[in-house]
Amino acid sequence: MSAWFGDHQVLLDVSLTMPAGQVTALIGPSGCGKSTFLRILNRMHELVPSASLAGEVLLDGDDIYDAGHRLIDARKHIGMVFQKPNPFPAMSIYDNVIAGLKLTGVRASRDEKDHLVETSLASAGLWKEVKDRLRAPGGGLSGGQQQRLCIARSLAIKPRVLLMDEPCSALDPTSTRVIEETMGELQKELTIVIVTHNMQQAQRVSQQCAFFLASQGQPGHIVEHGDTDAMFDSPIDPRTYDYVNGRF
Ligand code: ADP
Ligand code: MG
Repeated sequence: MSAWFGDHQVLLDVSLTMPAGQVTALIGPSGCGKSTFLRILNRMHELVPSASLAGEVLLDGDDIYDAGHRLIDARKHIGMVFQKPNPFPAMSIYDNVIAGLKLTGVRASRDEKDHLVETSLASAGLWKEVKDRLRAPGGGLSGGQQQRLCIARSLAIKPRVLLMDEPCSALDPTSTRVIEETMGELQKELTIVIVTHNMQQAQRVSQQCAFFLASQGQPGHIVEHGDTDAMFDSPIDPRTYDYVNGRF
């Protein structure tokens, strides 16, 4: 796919398969279009008035941009977690977890909601810490807990894909470790795509990796992608070698 903001092309011929059951890491310098790529994957890109796109996004073979594919379907199947944890601060932990249900048109009984809140928080690695204070505001949690609350909120809609845009950049190492462990469990049931500037994190959590670059007037594109270990151990492109080894 290729993408633009007005006349400014930000992605050029990006083509990537992100396999189910695996974590795919997107790496590359700031401004090379990683966040734009993620937003295209869940149809947030089209919310920017100047934004345009050429290409397709196939989810199990169906193009989410097809006329028959509604925005709400993309929202149901594709969850997203951002760099800055963004729970609704005044809303209770419980209500934060189920906040996505209404947006995606899912109806649930009280018992179903209770169950969903517990399972989503457990999958996000937060249940034990908050089960006695589900009515407390989400904004009262620590940064790492808030990010796991946001993961739980994404999981409550039972997505098939979880997109994570630098989810640990604002977190301390301990919270980061908890989230990485959570990802290890979640990937068994989900396709996970993570943008990270932390090369060790990319190596720890991902099986596939794609290196994005925008250079000398060239829009963001993928220089190299493939098996994470291979890409870090023996990158093919010298620019990948320099980037993963911290040489600029
Ligand atoms: P990354 O996540 O790799 O840092 P981004 O996807 O955020 O890169 O940005 C890619 C390019 O698109 C940058 O040149 C950025 O300035 C531009 N861009 C991002 N969002 C917008 C927007 N809403 N309007 C115009 N340009 C944008
Ligand atoms: Mg970004």
